[in-house]
Amino acid sequence: MARRTKIYEGKAKILYEGPEPGTIVQYFKDDATAFNAQKKDVIEGKGVLNNRLSEYFMTGLAQIGVPTHFIRRLNMREQLVRACEIVPLEVIVRNFAAGTMSKRLGIEEGTQLPRPIVEYCLKNDELGDPLVTEEHIAAFGWASQQDMDDILSLALRVNDYLSGLMYGVGIKLIDFKIEIGRVYENDYPRLIIADEISPDSCRLWDIATGQKLDKDVFRRDLGSLTDAYSEVARRLGVIPKTQVTKPTLIN
Ligand code: 5GP
Repeated sequence: MARRTKIYEGKAKILYEGPEPGTIVQYFKDDATAFNAQKKDVIEGKGVLNNRLSEYFMTGLAQIGVPTHFIRRLNMREQLVRACEIVPLEVIVRNFAAGTMSKRLGIEEGTQLPRPIVEYCLKNDELGDPLVTEEHIAAFGWASQQDMDDILSLALRVNDYLSGLMYGVGIKLIDFKIEIGRVYENDYPRLIIADEISPDSCRLWDIATGQKLDKDVFRRDLGSLTDAYSEVARRLGVIPKTQVTKPTLIN
């Protein structure tokens, strides 16, 4: 079999040319990084869980009419996605203060925000993905005003969908990050949700206990990351609720 052409290798994923034009194979690695890759580890099983969870979220979004790049899952670690131009922004939606917002504004982590707040960061590892304003985005041409209107609407729809879904399984969606892709349909540009949606890019807290079930477990050394991600997957029914054990043989 011919070797696949690698297009790009990031911190958590590898992109390969897909089997048909306009498609890409997204491979989920077990690598975990934090603080702009200053902290690194390999967490066995993380890639498999994120592949399944991202499939689950993207499929659910498509079902409610939110366009995404997801086409189909290929195997345990790979999914086929639509090729798109990535808008060079990380779009963050926050429902409760945490992380950099808590640090920046001195708001205690977990404080409910008066309404969902959308932030934009420039995708630039060398600069540590700095927070930017819509003025910067317009002046430097990273996205048009029409794009920004569409991005805001997509981000809030994803927030409504994910918050409700998580609430239903006893999890509070604190915040999340999405990336946006541009595709052309009959020469008209259209924005879609790209990259991944997984506990790597969300903050998820158990409603009853406040336990963290996301990448902060790795960032802050709070225990097993795969246990946390498996718990999210189990509650959503993405993996079986009970571990299948070997049958007891009675003679
Ligand atoms: P914060 O700005 O507080 O660090 O992050 C806000 C939210 O966006 C968190 O859910 C965090 O996981 C996500 N996020 C921010 N930057 C990145 C990033 O570069 N990669 C990933 N996977 N998630 C990010």
